Amino acid sequence: MDCIFCKIASKEIPSKIVFENERIIAFEDINPKAPTHILIIPKKHIPYIAEIKKEDIPLVGELIYVARKIAEEKELDKDGYRLVFNNGKNAGQEVFHIHLHLLGGRKFGWPPG
Ligand code: AMP
Ligand code: ZN
Repeated sequence: MDCIFCKIASKEIPSKIVFENERIIAFEDINPKAPTHILIIPKKHIPYIAEIKKEDIPLVGELIYVARKIAEEKELDKDGYRLVFNNGKNAGQEVFHIHLHLLGGRKFGWPPG
């Protein structure tokens, strides 16, 4: 399958990995939008939120738990951080393999642009 994040998960494409277990891999975003910008992805190919199945609920929960752990390791929890899923055209989703953005190290505006 021609999916860049599947290739990152299988190490076919190199990335700066910050966390990995059997189900999940987290790596630095190649084009960071904040001092810390990490993508947390399931190794399983799920193209967008609408493709999340009932059996994926623990996996999707674990993405958030991993983001929390990384945020704590990087000491982002004191000042706060943002977690984002861009889903579909209006949100600007570019890679069709779900990924949770962990952004930190600066103040973010609300509402988002
Ligand atoms: P999204 O707009 O939510 O689909 O975000 C896709 C993200 O993937 C963007 O922030 C890109 O900078 C990032 N990205 C694309 N290719 C790579 C790559 N090879 N390694 C790391 N991050 C990537
Ligand atoms: Zn994929």
